[in-house]
Parts: sequence; C-alpha cells; structure tokens
Amino acid sequence: MLKKISNKLIFSYLALTVILMVIIFIFLGSFIRQIHIDLNKTEISRFNTLIGYELKKLPRGTLPSKQLAETVADLSRLISLRITLIRPDGRVIADSEINDVSTLENHQYRKEIMEAMGSGEGFSLRYSSTLKTDMLYFATYSNGLVIRLARPLQEVEHSLDAMKSLVFNAALFAIIFSIIMIVLISFKITKPFNETLSFASDFAAGNYGRRILNYSSDEIGRLQKALNTMADTIVNTIEDHILEQRKLETTLDSIGDGIAMVDSSKNIIIYNNSFLTMLGISTELEGKQFFEVIRNSILNSRITRCLKSGEKDSFILEMANDRFYESVVTPIKAEKIIQGILVVLHDISEKRRIEKIKTDLVSNVSHELKTPIAIIRGYLETVKENYSNREMAIKYIDRAIENADRQDALIQDIIKLSMIESVREFEKEKIDIRSIIERCLDLLAPKIARREIKPVNIMEADIDYTVTANHFLVEEIFFNIIDNGINYNTDRGTLTISSAVSNGCLNIMISDTGAGIPEEARDRIFERFYRVDRSRSRATGGTGLGLSIVRHAALVLGWDIMVDSHDSGSTFTITVKKTGQHLS
Ligand code: ADP
Repeated sequence: MLKKISNKLIFSYLALTVILMVIIFIFLGSFIRQIHIDLNKTEISRFNTLIGYELKKLPRGTLPSKQLAETVADLSRLISLRITLIRPDGRVIADSEINDVSTLENHQYRKEIMEAMGSGEGFSLRYSSTLKTDMLYFATYSNGLVIRLARPLQEVEHSLDAMKSLVFNAALFAIIFSIIMIVLISFKITKPFNETLSFASDFAAGNYGRRILNYSSDEIGRLQKALNTMADTIVNTIEDHILEQRKLETTLDSIGDGIAMVDSSKNIIIYNNSFLTMLGISTELEGKQFFEVIRNSILNSRITRCLKSGEKDSFILEMANDRFYESVVTPIKAEKIIQGILVVLHDISEKRRIEKIKTDLVSNVSHELKTPIAIIRGYLETVKENYSNREMAIKYIDRAIENADRQDALIQDIIKLSMIESVREFEKEKIDIRSIIERCLDLLAPKIARREIKPVNIMEADIDYTVTANHFLVEEIFFNIIDNGINYNTDRGTLTISSAVSNGCLNIMISDTGAGIPEEARDRIFERFYRVDRSRSRATGGTGLGLSIVRHAALVLGWDIMVDSHDSGSTFTITVKKTGQHLS
C-alpha cells in the first residue's frame, strides 16, 4: 500500500497533522480549563467578599444558628454557589447544602481550609465526598471564620466540553482540509517523479527516442534535464558503437580471408562473410558454440589445443570440395590469460591449382617438345642408314621438316601463351572485328579449300563491329576458333559465322558441322594440351594450346566465350565487350 511515494507522503503528512491536532487539543483543553478555573476563582473570590460583608450584618457568634443557616441558604441561592462556614478548629457552623451541620466531619485538614488559615486565602479542586462530585473550593479566613464557597466542577466541565467540541470541530476541519491539501501537493510532487519513472522504464525497454518534456526549475527538473542529457549521451555512444561495429564488419567482410573469433568458452563472437562461405555455412553464428555449427573435426581440435596450450598454430585445412585453406589459430591473451582464439583461413586452392598447372605444364611441355624431336631424330637416323636411297631419304627428310614445323608451331604457341599471361598492359587500338574475321578466313583459305569446307559469313551488315582492343589478342581468338572449326569439321562441311546484338553486347557465333565435343570435355578443352582426340589433333597439326590462348586472350579483353555442342557440330559464341580488362 505504501509502495508509492504519494501514499507515503499522504500517510506521513496525515499522521503528522493528526498528532499535531491531538497535541493542540490536549494543550488547548488544559489551557482553556485552567482559564475557566481562574475565571471561576476570581468570580468566587468576589462572591466570597460579598458573603463576608453580608455575614457581618448578623449577630456575632460562632455557633450554628437557624438564622445563620437561612442566610447562608438564601445567599447560596442568590449566587448559585455552595456556601460553607467553618470555624478555625474545623467545625462547620453552616452549609447551604446541608441542614444538619453536626453530621459533617471536621474540615480542619481540608486543603483550602489549611491554606486559608495560613495565608488568608485557600483554593482546592477535589472530589466532594458530601456531594459526590468534583468541586472547586475557594476559602477566605477573616475575623475567626472561614467562608468557603464551592461550585461543582461539572459546570466548568460543561463549558469545557463546549469548548472542546468547538476545538474538535476546528481540528476535524483542519484535518480534512489538510488531507485535501496533502493529496493535491503529493500528486503535484510525485507527478514529475512518475514522468521520470515512465521515461526511465521506456528508455530501458529500448525506446531511445523518448525524452522528458516541460521540466520544472526545481531539483527534480534539474534531475530530468540531466537524465535527458544522459539519454542523449547514451544514444550517441550507442550510435558510435554501432558505427564502429559496422566499420569493423565492413572491414572484415571486405577481407577475402575467413576470419572468426571465439571466446574462451568457444562461443563465436565475430566472423565475416568469407568465413561462412569458406566453410559452407548459411546460418548466423554469433553467440553459438563453435562446435555446434562448424563441423570440421580438424579445425575444432586445433582450436581446443590452442585454448589449452596458448600456442599459435598453423596448418593446412583440406576441405571435402577440394579446397585448401592455410589456417592459423592465434590465442588472444590479456594478462597471460587466454580470452579467446582468432581463426584466420586463407584460401590457397587457386595457388595450389596454379602450382599444379605449372607442374603439369612443365611435364606436358617437355613431353610435347620431346616427341617431335624424337620423331625428327628417328627420321634422320633412317635417312643416315639409307643415305644411298635418295627417294626414301627425301621422304623422311620431308617428314622431319614436318615435325620441325610442328615443333616450331608448338614453341610459337607456348611463347604466345606465356606472353599473354605475363604482359600487364596491351596496346589498344580501334579495330573492326569483321575485317579481322575476314583476314582469318583469308589466311585459312588454303586449308578451307583443301578440306572443301563451305564458309558461310552471315554477319549482320548494320551492326557496328568496331571496338577498342588489342589487335593481336582479338586475332588470336578468332583465328584459333575458326581454325578449329575447319580442323574438327567434316570434309565438305559448313563453317558459319554469324552475329547478333544481345543485352548491349556484340555476339559472334562460329559454328561447324563436325562431330561435336562430348559434354564432359566441354569445360576441359580450354586447358593446356587437352585434346578430346589426340590423334585427330595431331593429324590437324594442332598443338593443344589454341583454346588456352583463346581463353587467356578473352580474359585480358574481358570477353566471354561459350561453347554449345552436339552430334552435328559445335558453336563457339564470343561475347565482345566494348571495354577490356587486364588479366592480373
Ligand atoms: P588443338 O591444337 O588440339 O586444336 P585446341 O586447344 O585448339 O587444341 O583445342 C583443344 C581440343 O578441343 C581439341 O584437341 C579438340 O579435341 C577440341 N575442339 C576444339 N574445337 C573443336 C571443335 N570446333 N569441334 C570439336 N572439337 C573441338
């Protein structure tokens, strides 16, 4: 009930008011009583003087007499007070209330009598055993007689009660008025508290935009103002923190390496997108146990080991999808205590692939180069042995020359390929693709004629074929693809060159009517020395490097090459882009 400040205020103020009223009531009551008694005393003392004067008129004597009793009774009626006459020895000689004074006990030791005997005046407030009520007594002593006047205190009490009820009503009114005032004041006092409380609750619940409006100039107003400033500071700090977090996240996400941090309980605290991609995870990781979401036993055991040993660890993580990650787990320490582990995964799959290609290339190149030399040597040895047989000698020398040409072509292609791979910047010029294609057809015209191939050039006339690119690279692309279209075509087949504009790009399609490329080989034909049919390639004088040169040249130019093939032929689509890029 008293949990609210307003209730506490109301209750305490109310209690204070009631206590004050009770104290005032008690003090005021006794004060008024005293005033009443004093007034009565003054009045009675006057009457006392008057009665003394009246009694002097009576014949002298100290014995009770009828005349004395009657006079006393008359005077008592007149002043409405009990009158008692007492001798110095305490004997009562007349009493307005008692006819037979002999029955009265000796009054010598009554307080008022003793005082009157001593100082001339005596006063007493006490219970009268004769009249069975509280009485106010006033006695004077003169001329050997004590005159005592008495008034029942009841009369005093009556007027006192009237006074008390007046005071009580006033107190009641004061209390009611106080309650109303206290309630109003306490609500006025607690209103800003409630506003502040509601603001604080709202803010704690995440409503960071709320502020306290219309604050007063008192202490609570200053507190509210300070709370508003504090809220602004908190909001700014949170915004700064979010900004910093975003910066960190952006930085981490811009890094190609997979990065994650776990705390000492192996909960994931930070990670970047690369980390998710590299480990093939699509769920959110934050706050989760590393082992729950990353089911890689090697990585997990290395983290556990690093947490135990506190030693940095590097290893190669081999994934099921043929990917290789150079991995480093580093303990994060604060005052020699391990707080967590930083995991960095660096993808070396491409590096490994290139290394493998290089190794394969060396063995392929040496193999490809050795073969014609061995053949040439074989022919030359046969010529040496049959030197006298001129006809045979010329035949073998021709074959040796043929292989020497093949060797030359191979060396030329190797040089071209390595040049395209190594040159960082190729010169660009404005070139017309259609005239390059026509030139390639001209160069290959003898072969076309020999194979009785029908070239069909149906390139659209109203397309702009000009492009700013490197002439050598463009020519290599078209020459090799057209050459293949002749080499792998059927005799008397058709070679169709067409063009189209799609999505703002120029597409050149080179189609043949050969046997096509098996589906599983379509991705591999661009690899160095890959041939679907080795003997066919050899027979056509192919080096196995033509499409590798095409692929690298297209990469440098930023062009795309697509292959579509079936039983009745293949189509190579070259997508020409107006701006080229450099192969890094
Ligand atoms: P090659 O010197 O052997 O022609 P390429 O790199 O030019 O080497 O081609 C690789 C292989 O791709 C060829 O050996 C051949 O098997 C296949 N190929 C290329 N173009 C075609 C095509 N138009 N039709 C069928 N097979 C093709």
